[in-house]
Amino acid sequence: MPKEKLQSKSWKEKGVVIVTAHPDDEALFFGTILQLKKAGVPITVIVMTLGELGSLHGVPESELTNERVKEVRRKELENGMKAIGASYEILPFADFALRYEAPEKLEVALLDVVRRIQPAAIFSFLDQEVTFQFDHPDHNTTGHLARVVGAGSDMQRYPNKENFPNAVPAMDRRPELYLWTTDKGVATHTVKLTKPERRTRNEYLKTHYPSQFSEADEKNWSKIFDNITKKKKSKKGKKKQREYFKRVR
Ligand SMILES: [Zn+2]
Repeated sequence: MPKEKLQSKSWKEKGVVIVTAHPDDEALFFGTILQLKKAGVPITVIVMTLGELGSLHGVPESELTNERVKEVRRKELENGMKAIGASYEILPFADFALRYEAPEKLEVALLDVVRRIQPAAIFSFLDQEVTFQFDHPDHNTTGHLARVVGAGSDMQRYPNKENFPNAVPAMDRRPELYLWTTDKGVATHTVKLTKPERRTRNEYLKTHYPSQFSEADEKNWSKIFDNITKKKKSKKGKKKQREYFKRVR
């Protein structure tokens, strides 16, 4: 597979899934999503939680309830997915608490969705993130789950039929697995992120996730995004931006 072109015949036929923890996490994969869309690859975004412990821009914390935040974030996800033309699935787990769920329960829930879709590739987070803004326990747990589910996707007797008689049957072959990272040292694949693409991403976030990415605060959050994709200056002094992935399988 070429380093910057993530497209192959089977991807176009079978599609890929992006396994994330929260609505709006897909923005970290935005350059990748744009490239996949261009290549006609169907995308499904799977979110493990609705991010109900987050705040809503302009609403005092004292007025927030889990249900209220969930409702806003579910709607935002729906709009975002419509905008990028992706399908999505919401798994019913609690925000900032994935690590407390029974691992088998998490695995089987995600495994069932992945096996139903039968994607050619899975994207998720590398499970030991090194940048403080993204060192979120839900991201790490999600990335770990994606690894386990990827490995178990083609195992005929996993999960055990005696415990999970309704589990979706195994896939014929394991999907490829790419884990998002800011650790450039471990990355095996990069995807270019041009300036217009970054502008499109910012527009996407402002328009579809206003509760999390306010226009007034754009300078701050866009800087965080740009800092993690920044590469060293090239000879011409241009700062090239990339999304980084470690291919595991
Ligand atoms: Zn997140």
